[in-house]
Formats: sequence, structure tokens, C-alpha cells
Amino acid sequence: MEFEGKMIVVTAPSGAGKTTIVKHLLQKFDSIDFSVSATTRYKREHEIDGKDYFFITPERFKQLIAEDAFAEYEMVYENQYYGTLMSEIERIWHSGKHIIFDIDVRGALSLKRKFGVRCLTIFIKPPSKEMLIERLVNRKTENPEALKKRIEKASLELSYEPLFDFVLINDQLEVACLEAELVTERFLNN
Ligand code: 5GP
Repeated sequence: MEFEGKMIVVTAPSGAGKTTIVKHLLQKFDSIDFSVSATTRYKREHEIDGKDYFFITPERFKQLIAEDAFAEYEMVYENQYYGTLMSEIERIWHSGKHIIFDIDVRGALSLKRKFGVRCLTIFIKPPSKEMLIERLVNRKTENPEALKKRIEKASLELSYEPLFDFVLINDQLEVACLEAELVTERFLNN
């Protein structure tokens, strides 16, 4: 039987801890690979170009939009663009693997619209709004102005919950990881 690539889109309001869950799923399933997004934001010290993101200039990003190279893209924060390249999706499916995405809520909904039943969207919900703010503050990766914007955005994103295939509350991380594992397994075996 021919391989039919699927996609698992993990999304959450900023700060709800989705990266850990994505990493857990990548470690558990040999059959899935991570979609590396393109972004115009600055590279953080620990990040590797081509592994965490493709760090590109705004000019290059605009050029790729004009070439229709993105499966979806969003200005996630003011003047910071993030997008999933069609070439990245094709590369992973051609390698015989399913794809996992760590993208924002609007991008997740775009992929769902585009790929339908081949796409599972998982929304990671923080136990409370206060907890979400606490996590954002503790991460210390942003300056106060950027942090404020992230908090405002996260509050809005919490309201998108009903639009996703599966909602997972990130209360205890081990439990959340296990739940994500089960729902992924069920989706891939279907
Ligand atoms: P960060 O700057 O903290 O790495 O990511 C900021 C946000 O952008 C996160 O919510 C992340 O999931 C999202 N993001 C990363 N890549 C993409 C992408 O390709 N498309 C969209 N729509 N969002 C992305």
C-alpha cells in the first residue's frame, strides 16, 4: 500500500508548554519528523539555523510569499513572520514520514483547512490563565514590551479552543505527554 503522509499540528497559546510535548512525541515515534518553519525573528543563542528554524530576512520572506511557497504563514508577533514551507512538507512526506508542527493557533487552523482528515490538530491548554502568564514571565526570553504583547495574544488565543480536534490540558507535564502520545498513536493507526 502506498504511504499516505499525515500531519500532527500541536498548537497552544504562547507559553502553554507545547515544545516539550512536541519533543516528547518526536522521541516516541520514529515515524514522525519535525517541520522546520521559516521565520524573520532574531535567532536566540541556543538555536540552530535549519534545525530550530530557517532564519531568513523579511525581504526573503516576502519573496517566498510572492512565490506561493508557504502552506501557511502568519505575522505571529508584530513584524515577526513565521511560515510553513510547502517544500518542507513535501520533503518529509517523500522521506516516508508523518509530520509534526509546532505552530501558532491561526496557522494550525489554516493547515487543518488545507489538509482536512490528513491533519490532526492538538490544542494545548494551560491549567489557568494565571499559570500561562507565570510561564511566559519565567521564560525570560523577551523584553518587557514583547512580553506584554505575548500575554495579550495568549489571552485571545485561549478563546479558540473549540476549533481543534483534541484539547489537552497541560497540568502535569508527564500526563499531558502521555495523553498526546495516545491520541497521536490512534490517529496514525487509523
Ligand atoms: P517562538 O518565537 O517562541 O519560537 O515562536 C513563536 C510562535 O510562533 C509559537 O507559537 C510558534 O509555535 C509559532 N510558530 C512557529 N513556526 C510557525 C509557523 O511556521 N507558522 C505559524 N503560523 N506559527 C509558527
